[in-house]
Amino acid sequence: MKVLVINCGSSSLKYQLLDMEDEKVIAKGLAERIGIEGARVKYEKIGDEEIVIEKPMENHKVAIDIVLNTIQDPEHGAVKSLDEIGAIGHRVVHGGEAFAESVLINDEVLKAIKDNVEIAPLHNPPNIMGIEAVTELMPNTPQVACFDTAFHQTIPAENYIYALPYEYYENHKIRRYGFHGTSHQYVTERASDILGIDLDKINLVTCHLGNGASITAVKNGKSNDTTMGFTPLEGLIMGTRCGDIDPAIIPFLMEKENLSADEVNNVMNKKSGVLGISGVSSDFRDLDQAAAEGNERAQLALDAFESRVVKSIGAYLTQLDHCDGIVFTAGVGENSIETRAHIAQKLASLGVTLDEEKNNVRGKEAIFSGEDSSIRLLVIPTNEELKIAQETERLTQN
Ligand code: AMP
Repeated sequence: MKVLVINCGSSSLKYQLLDMEDEKVIAKGLAERIGIEGARVKYEKIGDEEIVIEKPMENHKVAIDIVLNTIQDPEHGAVKSLDEIGAIGHRVVHGGEAFAESVLINDEVLKAIKDNVEIAPLHNPPNIMGIEAVTELMPNTPQVACFDTAFHQTIPAENYIYALPYEYYENHKIRRYGFHGTSHQYVTERASDILGIDLDKINLVTCHLGNGASITAVKNGKSNDTTMGFTPLEGLIMGTRCGDIDPAIIPFLMEKENLSADEVNNVMNKKSGVLGISGVSSDFRDLDQAAAEGNERAQLALDAFESRVVKSIGAYLTQLDHCDGIVFTAGVGENSIETRAHIAQKLASLGVTLDEEKNNVRGKEAIFSGEDSSIRLLVIPTNEELKIAQETERLTQN
């Protein structure tokens, strides 16, 4: 069975076509600048050169139409006809409390995803556009929704409730939801395989460290707590997001800088994080370079990022009666040998040790803790698309 995985952002659409026989990607690409001047679709049939189609795309439906036509193009296509695609899997950011797992999309499910727009106004609308476009263009192909929040629906109330008046939870659904769930779930399942520990017995701290970053305490294979909250703004310091700050800073800033609520929100999401501290870049490679050249604020941003990561790992270890491994994934976690080494060194008081040679890997699965380490350290490259494709196959096979 071939599965097309679609991940719609506000003006972009990432896609991958996988052959589930061997779980290999056969084509992939990205539609960019949807609804904006300069729109284009990048398409790569694996093994061939990437092609770029520049064409105005007024909305996601036009973008998906171009993608579908390219996938079955007689010259560049990866399939002869769209009939070869057995199902479509969509990444959907917010499932709210309605979805604790992936689900086959029908009218009722689509309505529930729409109901969550209120708590995910930036994220769910493009996901809905993607689902509706596919429904029109491929009406007979089953579609599955995989939610970023679903894995975290096992978090107990004591960890998801905010200490605000309880009626805000009841009336406005304000609680911790957590995000990056597909990634945390994928690396949890891989760690269970790698370490040979049953999924329902494994305890982990999984660190998804990329441009967006979150850490999850996994207890008996299930999410027990996670650093992102009501939105993906809470928790760690990220590329451009501030993560945890004293909430009293918000009204203070609104007054001092004469900013509206929207403007402060924009500052916290787009101008903060390591970009805000360093003034250099949101990209960790740029920060590494600037710090190496003596830029003190770039160094401060990296130190602050690592400090927050270590603090969260420490906190989550207290939720687990034992920990089978600390897992590093996403852009920084998979690739930054230095960041992993610094974090391991900062965990030395807990008996964590590092094998420098084994840590010398980028983008590959590895166990890089020392023989005598109290907790194993693992690198596991995440693969959210594969997880979505697996879920899509599982729910549509029959
Ligand atoms: P992601 O959001 O998971 O794609 O991660 C993107 C982040 O990973 C960017 O800030 C990159 O700079 C960072 N990254 C990728 N490769 C490296 C590397 N070799 N060293 C440090 N950071 C890296």
